[in-house]
Amino acid sequence: MKQHDVVVLGGGPAGSTVATLMAAQGFDVVVLEKEHFPRFHIGESLLPATVSIFDRLGVHEAIRSAYILKPGGKWLYGEKEVPGDFAMYDRRASFKKHPYSYLVERSTFDKILIDRSVEAGADVRFGTEVIDVISENDRIVGVRCCDEAGVESDVLGRIVIDASGLRAIIPSKLRIRKLAKPHRMGIYAQYAARPTRDDVKAGWFIGQMFYDGWTWLLRLPDDRFSVGTVLTVERFRKSGMTPTELLERLVVENPLLNEGMTSDRHRISDVIVTGNMGNSSESLAGAGWVAVGDAGYFIDPCYSSGVHLAMKSAEMVADLVMSWPKENPVEPSLFVQYQKDMRQHESTVQRMVDAFYVASRNTSVQKMVTTCHGGYFSRRFVTFVGGDFEANRRYIARVRNYCRVVGALFGNDPSRAPENHPHYLHEPSNVAKRRPVVDSGSSRN
Ligand SMILES: Cc1cc2nc3c(=O)[nH]c(=O)nc-3n(C[C@H](O)[C@H](O)[C@H](O)COP(=O)(O)OP(=O)(O)OC[C@H]3O[C@@H](n4cnc5c(N)ncnc54)[C@H](O)[C@@H]3O)c2cc1C
Repeated sequence: MKQHDVVVLGGGPAGSTVATLMAAQGFDVVVLEKEHFPRFHIGESLLPATVSIFDRLGVHEAIRSAYILKPGGKWLYGEKEVPGDFAMYDRRASFKKHPYSYLVERSTFDKILIDRSVEAGADVRFGTEVIDVISENDRIVGVRCCDEAGVESDVLGRIVIDASGLRAIIPSKLRIRKLAKPHRMGIYAQYAARPTRDDVKAGWFIGQMFYDGWTWLLRLPDDRFSVGTVLTVERFRKSGMTPTELLERLVVENPLLNEGMTSDRHRISDVIVTGNMGNSSESLAGAGWVAVGDAGYFIDPCYSSGVHLAMKSAEMVADLVMSWPKENPVEPSLFVQYQKDMRQHESTVQRMVDAFYVASRNTSVQKMVTTCHGGYFSRRFVTFVGGDFEANRRYIARVRNYCRVVGALFGNDPSRAPENHPHYLHEPSNVAKRRPVVDSGSSRN
């Protein structure tokens, strides 16, 4: 049976990046993707550090002309705001030439990326589900897949690259996938409305913390919004609501969602739930395989890090495999540095996520964050949230430690604790007084 150079499982941003880079250099690449594109996917807010990868793939112009420019991200802490304007980077930033990113619609964004893989010469097989992994002498040599007619076939490769997202086909098969605690979930949908806040109109990602959770609001083309929340599974259960009830209630009660869209808003998609948020594979590579993107690990999306880590890891793996002699089987030793680097990204982002949730529970920490904001600290923070995770490891460790110490000294703020709020969903500000804003003008830029 034919052995391909590379078999890629999944055609999301990680899979298409690796496929384009390698096919363009003459490698024989097969991508197995169970869906047909365009298909819905969550993850619309992108980072400036990814823009250089768009340039390398040759897709930047298509993305620039299709989507809304994102100048930065902003967090609302109660009444206060912490803006992360990408133009305010520090001297280490990799994105000085393009201090902006995009708010994309993933259905068409992922299609732009995979179409480029096809153009570069990859054999992309849509509607093809990977159903098993084939091993020989403890080495993964290929996969078994099933097409839409139910016909099963084997596809073999010198290396199998797992880019199957949260499905994490190979780590799951090897039972090395672990779920982070506390268990969190995402609940989200699209709404049709016009933006009422200037920052939303201007393409900023806006997030708002509540106790141990957060909401997001971001603009999509054609007067649509991505709206969602992340919260603990325990808290969701205690709410006694269905995901749809919970999200619809948030749209009325949460100040950001309520006030950020015009009152004629209405939901235009199903409410979707991602339950297994925050999980990681114990190893990112082994004999015959390597994992990229979410198949390697997935971190809480409060810093919009997912697509960047997916494309960055895919770029690193493509470059490594292309540096290996074509006639030899790819050995796991090739990925030692890759695993080290990706683990560092993971721990840096995870530390900042920990600090984020400490702040969400504690007004003293929030005060510290909003007071220290500005000058040097902001520039380091912006470089981090722009996607340069590795440049900021020491700074992030310090931020996390300060947050923990202040959090431990002052404890969680009981007035904000969920048990004091009947629906556990919103800040204790008097939302009943707030009224949605009606904007009769068009929001299109
Ligand atoms: C609530 C939430 C909000 C998020 N917000 C953001 C954000 O704002 N910004 C951001 O950057 N990231 C965000 N993310 C993360 C982002 O969605 C992911 O990190 C990103 O999509 C990872 O890309 P990937 O290519 O690794 O995986 P995916 O994009 O998931 O692609 C995997 C592909 O594999 C295919 N596949 C799966 N199983 C099989 C199989 N058995 N056979 C064949 N094909 C298969 C799937 O169909 C899919 O196309 C968010 C995630 C969640 C849950």
